[in-house]
Amino acid sequence: MKTDPASCPEASELVAFSRGALDAVRARVVEAHVASCANCRESAQDEQDSGTFGRMLRDWRSRMTPEDRSQTIDRAARSIEAARRDGPTPL
Ligand SMILES: [Zn+2]
Repeated sequence: MKTDPASCPEASELVAFSRGALDAVRARVVEAHVASCANCRESAQDEQDSGTFGRMLRDWRSRMTPEDRSQTIDRAARSIEAARRDGPTPL
């Protein structure tokens, strides 16, 4: 199935998804999209290369407590937002 780039979620929506802040229906859509969209996978890979976002996305489901998860995701989300604003983030 071909993915329409126009349907790619906003970065902020990906962050909300990773926080569990999206409703269940939307979260499924975003999750399925990331799994099937090369662009978004690439973005996730970029985040992984420049920080912890991609790794965290895999890890938070399996081993973080909800508190750790939201703290780490908040930190990562801020660094992602900063990176989008200012270019590469010195970590
Ligand atoms: Zn996409």
